[in-house]
Amino acid sequence: MPHFLRPSIRAMAGYTPGEQPRDGAFLKLNTNENPYPPSPRVFEAIRAALTGDNLRKYPDPLGTRFRQAAGRVLGVDPDGILIGNGSDDVLTILTRALVAEGGLVVSPAPSYLLYKTLADIQGARFQGIPFDSNWKVDPAQAVRDASVTFFANPNSPSGTMVDLETLAAWPGTMVVDEAYVDFADTNALGLLSRRRDLIVTRTLSKSYSLAGIRFGFAVGDPELIRHLVKVKDSYNCDVLSLAAATAAIEDQEHLRGITAAICATRTRLADALRKLEFSVTDSQANFVWARHARPVKPLYEELKRRYILVRYMNYPGYGDGLRISVGTDAEIDRLLDVLRTLL
Ligand SMILES: *Cc1c(COP(=O)(O)O)cnc(C)c1O
Repeated sequence: MPHFLRPSIRAMAGYTPGEQPRDGAFLKLNTNENPYPPSPRVFEAIRAALTGDNLRKYPDPLGTRFRQAAGRVLGVDPDGILIGNGSDDVLTILTRALVAEGGLVVSPAPSYLLYKTLADIQGARFQGIPFDSNWKVDPAQAVRDASVTFFANPNSPSGTMVDLETLAAWPGTMVVDEAYVDFADTNALGLLSRRRDLIVTRTLSKSYSLAGIRFGFAVGDPELIRHLVKVKDSYNCDVLSLAAATAAIEDQEHLRGITAAICATRTRLADALRKLEFSVTDSQANFVWARHARPVKPLYEELKRRYILVRYMNYPGYGDGLRISVGTDAEIDRLLDVLRTLL
């Protein structure tokens, strides 16, 4: 163990992302990638960006064109938008800006495991707030000395949402991570005008089908965003990702088409899994959380042997299950056919 590392880095386990096999034969239903292609305008925009001086020069550090487009689409002040190299970058910036060494990061649990990793890197403590059996939490459970509370909303792995009244009443600085919100019925943007200590984060990885591009953003009070800009790398988003993200967010019709298709397949998948005696939580995201009376780890392994990847998750004190991303109808049929032979 290198002695010159900070003790908190030496001690931490590190975040383990879902498997990304380079073997194209796998049906990937494990990392919530979108099965449909991004807007055709994205490809045009990247081609157009590959001209002239674009690669020789640094990109716009603030992503002005993206901020204007996103501000228009979402009905928010463009100065209240912070761009990031994926929303994980935005979550890192927020942790660095809001949490002092020795501070306290809080999140309902089980949820996105990165929040604890960010606390570990920062030399901060982490505390989970247990969800009840319906995946709800109550403002009375708020932790008083939290530096920040992260809500993944919709939550992973459950796909459930904490309702807006609960969020509105939650005391303290709060980040609502809306990575999956384009598959849901509501979002927290409307709370921003009431609370200056609320930040909403979004990503283009899931609903916009651009996980490979790495683009996310935060929405919050413009004054707060001005301070967050000081914490980010000056050029955290490159010219190609900025061009792609701007074109993608401007094509809301494409977004509506592919998210509607995924939501329809999600219903089919959940119904079919329930017929196979899985217990499936109603999901507002592009995945479902499926548990079974029988052990699910062998199922995960058998699926993998047949070139189908789903995410096996085991949360100490809570239990395990399969988080299955919603693919195309044909992909989900292939998964269900194999599951029927295994169960
Ligand atoms: C996928 C995911 C993210 C990260 O998205 P990127 O923009 O790809 O970094 C953030 N939060 C949650 C809850 C996610 O599932």
